[in-house]
Amino acid sequence: MSSAQKVRVRFAPSPTGGLHLGGVRTVLFNYLFARRHGGDFVLRIEDTDQTRFVEGAEEYIQRCLEWCGLEPDESPFKGGPYGPYRQSERKPMYREFALLLVESGKAYYAFDTPEELEYMRSSLKTAENPNPQYDHRLRMQMRNSLSLPQEEVDRLIQGGAPYVIRIRMPEGETIGFRDMIRGEVTFQTGQVDDKVLLKADGMPTYHLAVVVDDYHMKITHAFRGEEWLPSAPVHLLLWKYLGWEESMPQWAHLPLILKPDGNGKLSKRDGDRLGFPVFAMDWKDPKTGELTKGFKELGFLPESFVNMLAMLGWNDGTEQEIFTLDDLVARFDMDRVHKGGAKFNFDKAKWFNHEWIKFYPAEGLYELVEPLFAAKGVVSASAGSRGAVTRERIVDVIRLVKERCTFLTDFWDQSYFFFEDPVEYDMVAVGPKWNEKNKAFFEALSADIKQLVDFDAALLETNFKALATAHGIKAGELQMLFRVMLVGGKFGPSLFGIAAFLGKEKTAHRIDKAVAVFG
Ligand code: GLU
Repeated sequence: MSSAQKVRVRFAPSPTGGLHLGGVRTVLFNYLFARRHGGDFVLRIEDTDQTRFVEGAEEYIQRCLEWCGLEPDESPFKGGPYGPYRQSERKPMYREFALLLVESGKAYYAFDTPEELEYMRSSLKTAENPNPQYDHRLRMQMRNSLSLPQEEVDRLIQGGAPYVIRIRMPEGETIGFRDMIRGEVTFQTGQVDDKVLLKADGMPTYHLAVVVDDYHMKITHAFRGEEWLPSAPVHLLLWKYLGWEESMPQWAHLPLILKPDGNGKLSKRDGDRLGFPVFAMDWKDPKTGELTKGFKELGFLPESFVNMLAMLGWNDGTEQEIFTLDDLVARFDMDRVHKGGAKFNFDKAKWFNHEWIKFYPAEGLYELVEPLFAAKGVVSASAGSRGAVTRERIVDVIRLVKERCTFLTDFWDQSYFFFEDPVEYDMVAVGPKWNEKNKAFFEALSADIKQLVDFDAALLETNFKALATAHGIKAGELQMLFRVMLVGGKFGPSLFGIAAFLGKEKTAHRIDKAVAVFG
């Protein structure tokens, strides 16, 4: 890539299901790199394997990117100057390049049936070649345009025999490239098999399509998971054989996200086993109906999700952990991505979300929390509507409880008592403390509250304490009982703040009701 060239990166998922944490992190690093360098971020759907295509997966990917705030500049949904952005819609062009490779002797037709391939794997094992693969050692024993006479090849093709096109990997070359994270990486071509480039259905495989598309879409940097490193020699040769070496993108192979307990890639099964999601958003498999949980529905803020992902394998060299997307754009650098895998830690993920909820303005949380309240029957309305809760009031509640919420879904449990009377009381806490003396105190408190003209937290607290002294009881003990009367349990924000928020009628009503229940 020349220095004047505009940075162009791509995220190239196959639409085969939900989007895993690792996938979203790849999106994020692409996005950050593009923004940092004033470049373009492309979403390309790699749907050439029709057997793995899953209905709805493409739209799901688009929604995930939207939720995360990592929207592409060009995509199948948005269009753009280098479309189409779905490989299945680019089918004819791949064939053309596969044929060019055959013409130049860099690829060949292979006619082997599935049974013949199976025979190779099971019967051509030798001590020197214990895992036979379709490569320079065996290709002349198989049925292809290198081993068969030309007339036979022509006859087969004209007769419509199914064939694939395979790359002809050279026997003894050392090839390499400079990975932006790993530095120099080299490969022995003789150890790599003759990968299929074009399948019998005329669709390219990933190997051919990725090179043809990265070239035609003018991709300057390609970031993908470490699991693709073994395929790099095939891609390197294709860039060379197609005469595009000068335009080859710079590559970075991103480290794996590892399971929290042990080694190996974090899988959906680890999430199920340890009780946390590994997908960005809920994903329902259209074939099995199985639902896999996502971070969004668990109650993550997109900002904290993205922040947490950025820190899986990257830091800016300081102790800082909380970053907005803008901060990340300003600081992100591929040089600081670690080579080693990053262990996923769900407690740390929760910590990020809690920090973000604390740090987020209550006004800003309104849009996210209000639907959760509405689902519980809280009718919100603009100020003045009767029977409805105003936006201001909901924002006040959010402000009062947000320190206590790890997930957005915690807001209801932490604040339902602002909207409805408690239905149950923590009698384990109340029982040992409840007696005639305390009962008399609360009867007096209720009567006192009912005749107040002004009612605010400070006044109530002063009156409460004076009344406790008059009754000869410690205020601390009474406060616990008062809290259970108002919220049902020993939790919640400032007690007198809650009472002030409820207002004098509701506060007195809850005291009377609890006194009756406590007996
Ligand atoms: N389609 C590949 C995948 O789903 C993309 C790999 C790449 O980015 O080159 O992982």
